[in-house]
Amino acid sequence: MPSQDLIAGANLIAGVSSQHGAGTFQATDASTGEKLPTRFREATVNEVQRAARAAHEAYQGYRTWTGAQIGTLLRAISEELVQLGDVLIDTARRETGLTDQRLLGERARTCAQFEMFAELVESGEHLDVIIDHADNSTTPPRPDLRRMKVPVGPVAVFGAANFPLAFSVPGGDTASALAAGCSVVIKAHPYHPATSELCAHALLRAADRVGAPAGIVNLVQGRGIEVGQALVLADEIRSVGFTGSAHGGRALHDLAAGREHPIPVHAEMGSINPVLVTPRALVQRGKEIASELVGSLTMGVGQFCTSPGLIFAPHGDHGDRFVESLTAELSVATPGPLLNQGVRDALAAQLRETTKDSRVQVLLDGDTTTSTYCGHTLLSVDFETYISNETIRQEHFGPASIVVRCPEGSWERVIDQLDGQLTLTLQAEVDDAPELRGLLHRLEETAGRIIFNAFPTGVAVTAAQHHGGPHPATNEPRFTSVGTTAIERFLRPVAFQNVPDALLPDQLLDANPLRVPQRVDGARRD
Ligand code: NAP
Repeated sequence: MPSQDLIAGANLIAGVSSQHGAGTFQATDASTGEKLPTRFREATVNEVQRAARAAHEAYQGYRTWTGAQIGTLLRAISEELVQLGDVLIDTARRETGLTDQRLLGERARTCAQFEMFAELVESGEHLDVIIDHADNSTTPPRPDLRRMKVPVGPVAVFGAANFPLAFSVPGGDTASALAAGCSVVIKAHPYHPATSELCAHALLRAADRVGAPAGIVNLVQGRGIEVGQALVLADEIRSVGFTGSAHGGRALHDLAAGREHPIPVHAEMGSINPVLVTPRALVQRGKEIASELVGSLTMGVGQFCTSPGLIFAPHGDHGDRFVESLTAELSVATPGPLLNQGVRDALAAQLRETTKDSRVQVLLDGDTTTSTYCGHTLLSVDFETYISNETIRQEHFGPASIVVRCPEGSWERVIDQLDGQLTLTLQAEVDDAPELRGLLHRLEETAGRIIFNAFPTGVAVTAAQHHGGPHPATNEPRFTSVGTTAIERFLRPVAFQNVPDALLPDQLLDANPLRVPQRVDGARRD
């Protein structure tokens, strides 16, 4: 079937289209504001529960798949996403207003993510196998203990509006859940439902190709909180992966905590990604930093969770020139379409609130009200205003940033005012190291990723990545949603005590037939 024909506006339960609900909604063309033709059928509570049951049934078989088998599935998904071809890019462009270049990059990253997880599960490293043989010589004598990680069960996935691929249906939550051996029920984002449906078909085609049960991937459509709430409350769901707003993440966390059997919600939420520029860096590279910063601020029309929202620049001539360069370069940057009317309205309302304080200076007005296309809004405040006005320290999601002019020696107070962040960036010189070193533990306590002389947009997908951070950046600072360790969210350890070989999983046998890395009596055996 040609890819275009896969967009039917349906929910997908165990690979079967389901459209029982009365409610429908349409997506909007982000560039024109016009409604797109397909009517998407909102899932009923019953359909959501059926999807959760289908995920549970499929999980019973899928959870026993070896790393090699799961690797084959993940690689097939990567191929099927590419097979969707131009239709995927055209559909995502219409629904989000993102450029082809950006979407092609996002698809490449999304495919690479599946391949990276394939490599990980084929290696068996994620299972963290530890074997301690029985030892009667210790006091007290120790039993035979063997521990490994197993999948947690069906996972509910919520994607964000601003990454229709990499943080949505085929995104990091789905990839890491499937890699862990879990099945998924995905709540499609109402701002890119057709992109979501296309991607779900690619995942299902891959499952079919490698003989995986169709119920490992299910898709429910909905606009409004009812579908998502029913999903989090479904008995069979064992964990939630969420990317989106702070209020959405918090609401789902509270809902899940109130279940009869509470489940974890891994919510990756917003961040203001502060950038601290030292006086030395301004003297050496002020103009260059301003230029590179503009590149980072305007990426994705400022609609990245890692977009720099607060820029701390010192007082003085060099600081003045830096702010002038920044304003001048931003003023000639090409405006871009926002993802949707909701983002525009929320940003406009927030800017109205922030600029009520007469101490807030508007350096550049990006105009969030008159057209679908938006420039960057740049505000400036002094240090005391930053300290005393809390609205300045909240995420202004979209093309808007605030420069804070700081007196010398104020870094400690700057950092102490900050809530938890995904990233914290230092633009500094080597001679700043002694002063910054004293701040290091404060930086660690504030952010999940500390960046030196680079910018936070662009989150490399590697094993060493950490995309998380203290609340409110996430509600679970121990975990990341990007990089291969994201799989840890959907695994849990089980220890087997004195269990005979005939009953042990293959990964825990001394003979190690699957050749997984094992730590045996304290020594690593790869
Ligand atoms: P959102 O409005 O919270 O929506 C995300 C998803 O959650 C949607 O499917 C939404 O469904 C659902 N949802 C939200 N609140 C809910 C509730 N109370 N109950 C049930 N379902 C609920 O977020 P967004 O507008 O898509 O994304 C923008 C935000 O995401 C920004 O703050 C950005 O910084 C953040 N973000 C973070 C990351 C990260 O990695 N940390 C990455 C990208 C974006 P409905 O709309 O149908 O209710």
